[in-house]
Amino acid sequence: MTDRITIAARTIRERWPDVRLMTDEPMSRHTSFRIGGPAPLLVIPAGPDSLEGVCRVMDDLELSPLLIGNGSDLLVEDRPLSFPVIQTHTGSESARLLSGSRVEAGCGITLARLACFARDNGLTGLEFAHGIPGTLGGALFMNAGAYGGEMVQVTEQTRVYANGSVFTLTGEEHGFGYRKSRFSELGGTALCSVLQLSPGDPA
Ligand SMILES: Cc1cc2nc3c(=O)[nH]c(=O)nc-3n(C[C@H](O)[C@H](O)[C@H](O)COP(=O)(O)OP(=O)(O)OC[C@H]3O[C@@H](n4cnc5c(N)ncnc54)[C@H](O)[C@@H]3O)c2cc1C
Repeated sequence: MTDRITIAARTIRERWPDVRLMTDEPMSRHTSFRIGGPAPLLVIPAGPDSLEGVCRVMDDLELSPLLIGNGSDLLVEDRPLSFPVIQTHTGSESARLLSGSRVEAGCGITLARLACFARDNGLTGLEFAHGIPGTLGGALFMNAGAYGGEMVQVTEQTRVYANGSVFTLTGEEHGFGYRKSRFSELGGTALCSVLQLSPGDPA
């Protein structure tokens, strides 16, 4: 590891003990295609707050990490990587029901889990997303869609970290187009979103 990556690892470990850190971690364990050489440092924040903190540490140290969700849409080179990786998907994310048929979730949650959460709470609107193998963040990045549904139809707002600032995007500010968004065009890390759904019949 380079000095700056070592400092990043130490800083993150001190500030957020619940963040998982791995060194020389093969990316083939974190991509659906099972390819990718070792990352000097792989960081898995526990949720949106520590994700923001980890992004800040990387920025402060002028590191340019690769951000991944579930690694379902990535081809990673097989030789050792020279940069750290931040993975938002932890495997234990949950969502939160808000008033007015809305759902809030961190961007590391899988679409499958999110769709099931909506169904279990009597909400419709995310059925299209259940079979798409990524996270909420990965789906926002490319305005994922299927069966006539797309993220643009359900995304009310998203908290974002970019260039040292945190701000909230609402509606059209997401810049959704066909398989693209503000994230694919301008970068930034989606931290968590609120989705607007409708009352429905779980059956
Ligand atoms: C078998 C298969 C079926 C698929 N079916 C469909 C389909 O029916 N419809 C469809 O639209 N797509 C489909 N996809 C593509 C799918 O949309 C993507 O695989 C998925 O959305 C990527 O999510 P991910 O979390 O795995 O992202 P990753 O593959 O980990 O990352 C993809 C991109 O998203 C960015 N990203 C990830 N998280 C964030 C975040 N929090 N903030 C900002 N950027 C972020 C990454 O930096 C990267 O550039 C399919 C893919 C596969 C492999």
